Amino acid sequence: MRSAAGRLNRITQTAHLKSRAVDYSARPDRRIYAPEAMTVTEARPAGQCGNLLRAKGKTGTHSFCHLASYKVRVGQRVSEGQVIGIMGYSGYTIPSGPAGRHLHWYIMTSKGYVYPPTLYKTSSKGEIMDTNNKVQSMYYLLRGKKATTGEVAGHRGKTYQSFAESKYTKQEVDNRTRKIASLKSEASQTAAVTKRLATATDSLNKSNMTITELNRRLTGKQAEIDELSDANANLGRANTVLARANETLEAQVGESDKWTTFKALIRELFNFTKK
Ligand SMILES: [Zn+2]
Repeated sequence: MRSAAGRLNRITQTAHLKSRAVDYSARPDRRIYAPEAMTVTEARPAGQCGNLLRAKGKTGTHSFCHLASYKVRVGQRVSEGQVIGIMGYSGYTIPSGPAGRHLHWYIMTSKGYVYPPTLYKTSSKGEIMDTNNKVQSMYYLLRGKKATTGEVAGHRGKTYQSFAESKYTKQEVDNRTRKIASLKSEASQTAAVTKRLATATDSLNKSNMTITELNRRLTGKQAEIDELSDANANLGRANTVLARANETLEAQVGESDKWTTFKALIRELFNFTKK
């Protein structure tokens, strides 16, 4: 047999009244589950009990009070764990109204009224996770992942409630602490790299400036070289002209020498003839 309330719902009042009823909080789960396979015998308003749901199972006749709604009909056969109704505050509750929403549940057996939690493994904080499967399914539900063998062993035998309250195990806290430290270290490494990158970028910019400056100077030098080579070309042309002029001059000098010689010959001839 299982609890008619959700696994995380707390017992808010232990055995009370002649019927040795148990009260369960409507939080966090308002659904009422069939504690065992049973047949629905009654579903009707019943005075202080409010909307009553009654069903007969192997253990005895279960009565559930204050329902907001029924999920089954009279005569229906239900299986263990099936949702049979929703908790409400119909009838007499303390306080009255929505704040008084809870499940009031009692069982009549062949030996009289039996306080329901004595029929399944519970503590004052709720149902006990007495199998590995129960731990595993709760682990999936609350943490969204499979539990390790060690984690299963660590939680087995404890209540669903205590499991839900210990949101993180010591191991998980340690893991998270390590993870945070590693992220911090990564962040500081990234910052250092960013800083080095900025320095490198800065010196690259300076180098670029130097290159620009050198290019500018190179352009200036090239202009000077161009000017010089123009001057050289002009000088070359001038030399050519000068060489030609020299040749002409030499030719003229040559002619002039010939003429002087001729004149001297004439003079000699003349002087000779005069003799
Ligand atoms: Zn009660």
